[in-house]
Amino acid sequence: MKELLVDLIALQNVEIEMYKAQEGLRELPKDISEIESIMSARRKSLDAVDEEIAAYEQKKEPLEAELKENQAILDAADARIKRIKTNKEFLALQREIDLAKKRKADIEEQILTIMDKMEKRSAERERIRVSFETDRVILDERKERIAGQIRELEAVLVEYQGKDKKLRKIVDPSLLSKYDRIKQGKKGLAVVECHDGVCKGCHMHIQPQLFNELVRGDRLIICPSCQRILYVKPSDGEDEE
Ligand SMILES: [Zn+2]
Repeated sequence: MKELLVDLIALQNVEIEMYKAQEGLRELPKDISEIESIMSARRKSLDAVDEEIAAYEQKKEPLEAELKENQAILDAADARIKRIKTNKEFLALQREIDLAKKRKADIEEQILTIMDKMEKRSAERERIRVSFETDRVILDERKERIAGQIRELEAVLVEYQGKDKKLRKIVDPSLLSKYDRIKQGKKGLAVVECHDGVCKGCHMHIQPQLFNELVRGDRLIICPSCQRILYVKPSDGEDEE
């Protein structure tokens, strides 16, 4: 029985490693998509500021055009004022000039307010861009590292799958079917060591008589408490782990 169990324990070790690799392959892609969503959120906040700046630019354009038109009115009035003969005409033109000047001051103030806001948003954009660039380097590195881990795990998994296939052919068939049945209910751990009469699967003592039988190794011993297959290490008392 002891010899039969050696292959089964080897099989279990391989399958535990396979399970770990599979778990890693399930979890690691989640880390990558988390990084990607951080990056896309950053990109979106940058885009949002760009849109705000563009909106201000659009608001500014017609005002600048109007300022030009207004200046043309003022220039024309300046030219006309020298040729004016009557006081009445002079007053009328003066009123026109005053209105245009008032409008000019008004537009200039609006443009200044917009430019002030644009400047603040541009500074903000620069801050976001710089921090995004810095973080992107870190995030890209992290992503690359995780991708490397995934590739490694995939290779490890293929290797272990090969070992698993071989071992499954070697292990005694009836032992293998027992192992598979127990494994399903025990989170992958179907064969456990019994150390000093204590089952390492459930940490319960087994009867001394049963332990003696286990040490003799004549037949398959199942833990009465957790139903796992038990084995003893050749030199009991020497801890490996
Ligand atoms: Zn047990």
